[in-house]
Amino acid sequence: MKLIFLGPPGAGKGTLAVQAKDLLGIPHISTGVIFRDAIAAKSPLGLEVKAIIDAGKLVEDETTIALVKERLAQADAQKGYILDGFPRTIAQAEALETVSTVDKVVNFDIPDSGVIERLSGRRVCRKCGYNFHTVFNKPKKEGTCDFCGGEIYVREDDKPSAVAKRLDVYRAQTQPLIDFYRKKGLLVDIDASHLVDETIVSFRKALGI
Ligand code: AMP
Repeated sequence: MKLIFLGPPGAGKGTLAVQAKDLLGIPHISTGVIFRDAIAAKSPLGLEVKAIIDAGKLVEDETTIALVKERLAQADAQKGYILDGFPRTIAQAEALETVSTVDKVVNFDIPDSGVIERLSGRRVCRKCGYNFHTVFNKPKKEGTCDFCGGEIYVREDDKPSAVAKRLDVYRAQTQPLIDFYRKKGLLVDIDASHLVDETIVSFRKALGI
């Protein structure tokens, strides 16, 4: 199954994708994770995008599209994938259509208040990328990942000034994709305002799996 997870930052796309990828046996492809890994590795891509990401802006379409095309060409993505955080612009969506046919676009429906609550408490494992939360999903030992023992940190772009920017960018550039995919009959809406265990029920129901 070829899926796009669409929704504002903090809607829980990445958290649900971790569960859904095991359920469906397909890779989870997050452009945000690819960029953060590149930044951590101080690769040329990482150096190019760090300041843009820290400020909550979008990386250039050209860079992002090239990266995703390369990733989708890999063997594990042939039977399906979950694209999380891509596309984020109409240009990206149109580029995707030239290389792959998506089965469904899952729209994570959540009010702004929920987004801010989630982002302000989000803590991420530096090593495996797992998302914790200071209230809803605390690690067993503060500061340490339950799964890989990695260090847990606050993403630079989860700090308040960048969060406001990311929400503006989402509304201006990404939200139009909801209509874009609805018109194509690909969109399924899920209520993402609850905890992940409830969201996965909503997700399975929406996709009939
Ligand atoms: P995310 O982890 O999906 O919230 O992405 C973190 C940041 O990476 C975003 O705020 C952007 O700066 C950048 N990014 C991720 N995906 C894309 C994309 N499809 N297009 C442009 N920038 C992206």
